[in-house]
Amino acid sequence: MAVTYEELTTKHPCFARGEHSSNGRIHLPVSPTCNIECRFCERSINSYENRPGVAATVIRPEEAAKAVEKALELCPEIKVAGIAGPGDTLASNCALRTFGLIKEKFPQLVKCMSTNGLLLAEKAQEVIDAGVDSLTVTVNAVDPEIEAKLNAGISWHGKHYEGVEAAKILIEQQIKGIKLVSDAGMTVKVNTVLVPGINVDHIGEIARTVAEAGASIYNIIPLIPQHQLKDCPPPTCEEIEGAIRAAQEYIDVFRHCHRCRADAVGIPGGKDFGDEVYMQRLSAK
Ligand code: SF4
Ligand code: SF4
Repeated sequence: MAVTYEELTTKHPCFARGEHSSNGRIHLPVSPTCNIECRFCERSINSYENRPGVAATVIRPEEAAKAVEKALELCPEIKVAGIAGPGDTLASNCALRTFGLIKEKFPQLVKCMSTNGLLLAEKAQEVIDAGVDSLTVTVNAVDPEIEAKLNAGISWHGKHYEGVEAAKILIEQQIKGIKLVSDAGMTVKVNTVLVPGINVDHIGEIARTVAEAGASIYNIIPLIPQHQLKDCPPPTCEEIEGAIRAAQEYIDVFRHCHRCRADAVGIPGGKDFGDEVYMQRLSAK
């Protein structure tokens, strides 16, 4: 049975009530590929950028247990094993295989997964069977016209879709997926990348829709301008505060996301042990 929302507030640093938690997490960068094309996404393999979509390396599921062992030695406060990229966790079977292995070797760790949700509805049972405790789905719009401005296309069942047609499929699958896993007792957090001029006035509508589908908590991530949206300014503090107020009408809002790398290790906002866990292990090969 998945860990409850109340338990997550005491074990998972990103669900903690209040500003800071002393619990840590390890992100396992096992998911190399993606099946959608967010216009702001620039995935990268490097050790210097601090943002989602970046990892120093991609590891195989079989290497994840060693990484967790090393991470727990360096930072015993780690209570969560998460997978958040650098691509999408359901675009390959790497993340679900990894969770299967983590469940056996580290049953005490909370298992946390992030996905764009395109394959969530069809893989919901596999996600539940892998023992995932908390799931984050990134939903940037619930109106296909708006989503098409944020996402150029999707690859779905061997076909490529673009624009509004792609957006309709993505939104439908995300909402259906959120409903299925939250009905099964899993805690769902929804992330939205806040993009000025595109979805700033749409946040209340997203929050209402995902809360109705069963999501428990909502996280607004300010845009990091890059790729096709590199000339778009990041949201102002007023826009972020306005978005939080709009969302709070419908759902709890998480306020202290650090926009972590896909291979972050440690307590969010504190020292990062990613280099020690991933790079030293690789150079020792
Ligand atoms: Fe990038 Fe994530 Fe969007 Fe895929 S779902 S394109 S990895 S931001
Ligand atoms: Fe937590 Fe945000 Fe970092 Fe995810 S990206 S581990 S939600 S602080």
